Amino acid sequence: MRRGEPPHQGGVLEVICGPMFSGKTEELIRRLRRALIAKQDVVILKPWIDNRFSSDHLVTHNEEKIPSAQASSPEQVRKLAAGADVVGIDEVQFFGPGIVPVIDELADGGARVIVAGLDMDYRAVPFEPVPQLLARAEYITKALAICVCCGNPASRSQRISAATSQILVGALDHYEARCRECFEPPEPDGAEKTTSLAETEASTPLGERS
Ligand SMILES: [Zn+2]
Repeated sequence: MRRGEPPHQGGVLEVICGPMFSGKTEELIRRLRRALIAKQDVVILKPWIDNRFSSDHLVTHNEEKIPSAQASSPEQVRKLAAGADVVGIDEVQFFGPGIVPVIDELADGGARVIVAGLDMDYRAVPFEPVPQLLARAEYITKALAICVCCGNPASRSQRISAATSQILVGALDHYEARCRECFEPPEPDGAEKTTSLAETEASTPLGERS
C-alpha cells in the first residue's frame, strides 16, 4: 500500500487532512521528498501566516524540514506553481476559497498537487476550503492524532484558550487533540469573528503543527 501515493501520470489532487498534531505536515514532506528524489520539478508553498518555525522551510515538531516558499494569496500560488510537476501546499485552509480554482487549474494542467490542511476548525465545523478540496480530490488521507484525555484516535482540535476567531495561529498550549467523545465544543455565545490573514496573530515560534 503506497499510502495514497498514486503513480504520477497527468494531473491529480491529493488531500491530507485531519486535526492538529496528526502528522499532516510529516506526510506531506514524505511525499514531496520522494518526488524530489525522483528529480521532479517540485514547488513547495505555505501561506505567509505560517512562519512560526521558519519562513523558508516546512518544519515539523520533529525538526524534519524541507525548503519551501511563502505565498500570500491564491494568485501568488498560481504564479509560483506555474509549470511545476509537483506542487505541495501546507496549511492550505489559510488560503481561503480562492485557492480552489487555482488548485483545480494546476491539476487540470497536469500537475500533481498535494495539499495538507485542517478539515475542521476548533468548533469541529468543517474548515473551508478543505471540504471543497476533498470533494475534488482523487486521493484523500485522513490523519488522526491521539486524544490527550483518553488515548483514542483524535479527530478534533480542542482550543483550550478563550479566543473566538476561527484562525488562531499560536502556541501548543492553545490547542490539544481530542476524540469525538472528549471534545467539548466552545460555548455558542459571542458571534464568530471572521479574521482575515492580516489580522491574525501569527508570532510565536512554538506553533502547533499538523
Ligand atoms: Zn478521548
